[in-house]
Amino acid sequence: MCGVFGAVTPGTDAARIASFGLFALQHRGQESAGLAVSDGDQLMVHKDLGLIAQVLDDRRLPSLRGHLAVAHCRYSTTGSTRWENAQPTFRLGPRRAIAIGHNGNLVNTRDLLARLPGGRARLTASTDTDLLTALIADDPSVDVVDALIHVLPTARGAYSLVVLDRTRVIGVRDPHGFRPLVLGRVSPELLDPVGQEALGLVDEPDRTGWVLSSETAGLDIIGAEYVRDVEPGEIVILEEGREPRSVRFAEASPHLCVFELIYFARPDSYMLGRNLYEVRRRMGMALALEHPTDADLVMPVPDTGSPAAAGYAEASGIPYREGLVKNRYAGRTFIQPSTAMRQRGVAVKLNPLREVVRGKRLVVVDDSIVRGTTTRSIVALLRKAGAAEVHLRISAPPIYHPCFYGIDTQIETELIASRLDADGIREFLGADSLGYLSIAGILSALDLPYDGFCFACFDGSYPEPVPYDAASRKLVLEEEHVRVAG
Ligand code: SF4
Repeated sequence: MCGVFGAVTPGTDAARIASFGLFALQHRGQESAGLAVSDGDQLMVHKDLGLIAQVLDDRRLPSLRGHLAVAHCRYSTTGSTRWENAQPTFRLGPRRAIAIGHNGNLVNTRDLLARLPGGRARLTASTDTDLLTALIADDPSVDVVDALIHVLPTARGAYSLVVLDRTRVIGVRDPHGFRPLVLGRVSPELLDPVGQEALGLVDEPDRTGWVLSSETAGLDIIGAEYVRDVEPGEIVILEEGREPRSVRFAEASPHLCVFELIYFARPDSYMLGRNLYEVRRRMGMALALEHPTDADLVMPVPDTGSPAAAGYAEASGIPYREGLVKNRYAGRTFIQPSTAMRQRGVAVKLNPLREVVRGKRLVVVDDSIVRGTTTRSIVALLRKAGAAEVHLRISAPPIYHPCFYGIDTQIETELIASRLDADGIREFLGADSLGYLSIAGILSALDLPYDGFCFACFDGSYPEPVPYDAASRKLVLEEEHVRVAG
């Protein structure tokens, strides 16, 4: 999972708008950040390991000149956490210079590598994105859109892309649309004078800009209005002085990742016309109907469990209270890229409110259990603080299968539900009871049919066939580099 943002802002530098927009997407990736700009002639890229505010700070932004920009924050699903693997990627090919920000994960990296003349030795980074960038930059088509139409059908898996060439920002969504991407319009008249000044926008009629964002929250932060989703299998071309143009490169077979709605995306974002806070609150209501219990209080695992806990409390009539205080400066434990960091993370991140939990029978609501280590620590914290009973309620089904489309749950044995049955999981977690929301419960909360979503990590029905060499996928290009060098 990563965040991508693209901006075309005639008459003003796009870097500030793109960095603001990306800032709203920080939750999607915290390992590295970067920005590529073009002034219509030359591309420039700045990227580094770290958070967006550290990488794209006020010392750096003024030097990134041009009315075209793409930006990216990274959560690694291919390649390790190294500077070279930060995005946007950049490539100077025989016909074009391009920079790309990618959200998602390709599943046929080995096949694509075989199509690159010179192979692994030509890549500086070890990501599927660097490989895709090289293939597009090398393509003999005269125009970059033709190159995309030529190359994209060979790439399988998940990709929501923002592509920058000298004169355009281009948005792409894979035929399944696993990861979201929305189109927005930004014009000075949408902003008050303070907003205009902050973003460097001039209030003139021909200064309408266009933006692409992983989530609608990225539009809100810069005062852009939502226009529409980029469709699965669609290329959207943004350039100065023109309305966005659309080109289809594949038939759409929509399978939006349902986990985006359950957990990953921000609650103030909208997907498929639904506000995600409301969706999650309704999931909590459905959870209360499926797994009722006698308890004194309902409380969330903050912050991600809050909407579902509110729904559970509403439907069950059990009072809602905050029982865990979160250190807002600690990153999401799940998003941290190593087990050691995750385990240390829980202790610094959450502290129970002893006065609230002591002697109480608690319903504790969270949105998922992946490895179980975080949840087990939370149950232990609550018991130590004096909780009489801890009843865990999860607003998603058990995760039995790995994700190959951009979430870092690639090794099945790491998933607690793939190793233990329901009672074994409850015992491991130390809870008095455990209840997961069913797929039917999710769908009733969404009020949408199963078709159109990916539920593969819950039911094993993968929309795009996946490779068999599961253990080595994330580092496939690093291993290939060692093999070639050896
Ligand atoms: Fe989302 Fe799960 Fe499908 Fe991955 S496998 S895209 S996490 S629903």
